[in-house]
Parts: sequence; C-alpha cells; structure tokens
Amino acid sequence: MMETVLMEEMTWLEIKQAVASGKETAILVAASIEQHGPHLPTATDTIIGYALAEAVAKKLGSALVAPVIRPALSFHHIDFPGTITLRMQTFVKVLEECCVSLKAHGFKNIVLFVSHGGNSDALKAFTPSIAQKIGPEIQLLFVYSLEKNISAMQEFLAQKGITPGKAGVHSGFSETSLMLMLRPDLVNMEKAVPGLTDEPFYLPENINKSKISSFIHGIKSQSANGILGDPTGANAEIGKEIFEAKINDLASEIAANL
Ligand SMILES: [Zn+2]
Repeated sequence: MMETVLMEEMTWLEIKQAVASGKETAILVAASIEQHGPHLPTATDTIIGYALAEAVAKKLGSALVAPVIRPALSFHHIDFPGTITLRMQTFVKVLEECCVSLKAHGFKNIVLFVSHGGNSDALKAFTPSIAQKIGPEIQLLFVYSLEKNISAMQEFLAQKGITPGKAGVHSGFSETSLMLMLRPDLVNMEKAVPGLTDEPFYLPENINKSKISSFIHGIKSQSANGILGDPTGANAEIGKEIFEAKINDLASEIAANL
C-alpha cells in the first residue's frame, strides 16, 4: 500500500504508529463549499486545500493531514445555489473540537491554514482562544493569512504579465489554473468568462475596503456570475507553478515556527 499522510485514508493503528514515530504535527485546513462561478465546482476550495495540505505534509515529513473542514464561512456567497455556510459560532466550535480531538491522539502541533479567504480573519482572531482551550501542551499555529496569500500570488503572476484584476481572488485566473492542474475533469472552460476585473479592487492598499464590499454586501453585489477575476486563458502549467510556490511558502512558514 502507498504511504499516505491523509488521516481519512489511514487506520487508527497507522495513525498511532505515525505519531509515535515522529509525525507529531497535524495540519487542519479550513476550506469551503461554495459557488465558484459557472465553470468551477462548489468543492474547489476543499480540493485545493486538501492537495496543498497533502503536499506540505509530505514536504515537511513530520506531519499528517486531518480531514479538511468543508462547509465554513461563506455567508457572502449564499445568494448562489450550492453554497453551504456555518455561522461564526459554529465554525469556531468545529475548529475547537477538531483540535481537542487531535490533541487526544498525541499530536504536539496543530497547524491551521485556510484555502478560502472568508475563513482567514476568523481563524486569526480565534486562534488564541482555541489555543487556550486546548492547553499549553500543544502548539497551535495559524499560517498564511489571506493578505499574505494574495500578495504572494499577485507578485508571482505579475512576472508573467497577469494583472491582479485578472488573477482575481475567487475563481479567476489563479484559482482556475490550480483546478486545471488538480481536477481538470471538474473544470468547464467553455463557461469560464470574466467576472469583476476592476484593478483597484485587488490592490493591497484597498484590501479592507474590498473585504467590506465582498464579505458584508455579498459577492453578488460585486459580480453577477460569482467570479472575482478573469479565468480566461487559465492553464494547468501555471497552475502547477502557483501550487509549488504556495507549498514552498507554507512549508517554510510552518518550519520556521515549529
Ligand atoms: Zn475558492
């Protein structure tokens, strides 16, 4: 049998042995189940989050991947069918209880990251109180915030002549390229059309304003088709490069903090 780092695919004995032999870090990703425009599936963030966590765990060599948290904070997408959202209180409870469960199995570190921007601020805000709940024997680490993730991706794509408005932050060029690399069978490029491509919306200095208009007023007020960015021309080759850059960023941030 191929060696896996995904706890969902392992038996309890394999997990016990892996932790005992030094795989003492659990990676917990908060993803989403939400609309991703007319061309990507609602599990997009879950698929990307799982793939990133798996690759990061393999790169670190000392980590296992907990089941990805699927429905999370997606109120701002609720106008589009298929979106399932948790309330903030429920989301924080789910995180807390996953961490308590992981602690029971002997993990020494839990690394949290998001593959869905809407979860980022909540994770950052609630990590200290969750850490307090699970106690000092276990280190809880939140890595790769929304701002960092977006600016790293924008810098990377700028070298290829892709503007922030095309790269986008939701179902645009970057996310569609990632999906073309990971699950091309679930991408319908015939339906991939531009959404909100207004450059100032995506600039780092406007992020707070853009967050208010998306998170509070809803994505539909920004983009009728649910896309923030422009997926046309997306491709698996660039998807692979974005994926590798993300893995390197995540693994080095985790390694520097554990
Ligand atoms: Zn997404």
